[in-house]
Amino acid sequence: MISITDKTQCCGCTACAAVCPKNCITMRPDGEGFLYPAVNADACVGCGACDAVCPVKNRPQAVDHPQAAAVRANDRALRLFSSSGGVFSLLATDVLNAGGAVCGAVYDENFQVRHVLAWDEAGVEPMRGAKYVQSDLNDVFSQIRSLLADGVPVLFSGTPCQTAGLRSLLRGQPENLLTVAVVCHGAPSPRVWEKNLRELGNVTDVRLRDKRESWKHYATNYFADGREIFRPVMDDPYMKGFLRDLFNRPSCAACPAKGGDYADLTLGDFWGIEKILPALDDDRGTSLVLVHSEKGRQALAALRDRVESRAVPFADAVRYNPAVTTASAAHPQRAEAMRRMETEPLARVVADYTKASGKEKLMGFARKLLGRK
Ligand SMILES: Cc1cc2nc3c(=O)[nH]c(=O)nc-3n(C[C@H](O)[C@H](O)[C@H](O)COP(=O)(O)OP(=O)(O)OC[C@H]3O[C@@H](n4cnc5c(N)ncnc54)[C@H](O)[C@@H]3O)c2cc1C
Repeated sequence: MISITDKTQCCGCTACAAVCPKNCITMRPDGEGFLYPAVNADACVGCGACDAVCPVKNRPQAVDHPQAAAVRANDRALRLFSSSGGVFSLLATDVLNAGGAVCGAVYDENFQVRHVLAWDEAGVEPMRGAKYVQSDLNDVFSQIRSLLADGVPVLFSGTPCQTAGLRSLLRGQPENLLTVAVVCHGAPSPRVWEKNLRELGNVTDVRLRDKRESWKHYATNYFADGREIFRPVMDDPYMKGFLRDLFNRPSCAACPAKGGDYADLTLGDFWGIEKILPALDDDRGTSLVLVHSEKGRQALAALRDRVESRAVPFADAVRYNPAVTTASAAHPQRAEAMRRMETEPLARVVADYTKASGKEKLMGFARKLLGRK
């Protein structure tokens, strides 16, 4: 029977709940809003399926360096509403055209993040763009399992630990499933996100990667109480705290899916593109694409008329993107910060734990002197 006594040992992927033959596992939120399995011990028959399917207990194998490419959609408008180069949306279109379903993360009516299934472009549109909050997978794994058994093509997109959980549940990779993982340096607390929204007012729209000034600036844009709130990253306490790993899920520091064979494709931001391949950088987003399987290679090849793409050595692809291979350690004062957030404003708490160190200030000063960003 699955029992989580150490929160670093559960990524919340729901595979254990989906595999349980007695349906006796439910996912329940802790005080930070992260979901963990709760077992109804009276109904449990002790079959051990939940432990066997857990991607944390059974870590995906590390693989050799995959093929890598820099890719951006020719459709600039599509890229403006995507977090990096818009590759996810193009892959989704191909699966929809094959009569399939696409599963990805959307905001619900309260701007909490959850995975849903879509059957047309209108359903995929809200999946576009990264939502930097841990998403609730609810029962999508069970829905996907049924669809696959009926022969329906499915694209699942999520964080690496989520794709690892799905593949573990399905015991490998059915022919009609395409898995797409996003590079992920951490999944933030739904409770902190909720607090951020509450402090903004009555929120009616959110964009966590507003590219109007620059793709590289991580600016945010909210509509709250009838006004637009555009924030450069340094003025957004939520993004500042996220980028400093102040409120990620505890398991992110021990990520079970770094460098593992967990998806057909991995998509991320191609950080450093301006140095490595400046011709592919218009500052509106370029994706880093890692290809882990033949199915992934074919899915990417099918985009060739709709993208600009260049193969790059793996070492160049990850030179400025440590999140691909390395789990980010939790902020050393995470516990204290989380405690204070229960009663104090987010901006005050984040400011106290994200002050630039002496070295960072010096580096900033040196960059200014040298005229670099
Ligand atoms: C929590 C999180 C952390 C990330 N950290 C990094 C990083 O450190 N470095 C990096 O290079 N890239 C990171 N990314 C990925 C990056 O922001 C882009 O999502 C990725 O490059 C794909 O971009 P795109 O333009 O192809 O498609 P987009 O349209 O931007 O892709 C969106 C896709 O991401 C999925 N998605 C969105 N939010 C979530 C969520 N909360 N949980 C699961 N899936 C989600 C959607 O289902 C959709 O499939 C992160 C993404 C998330 C969600």
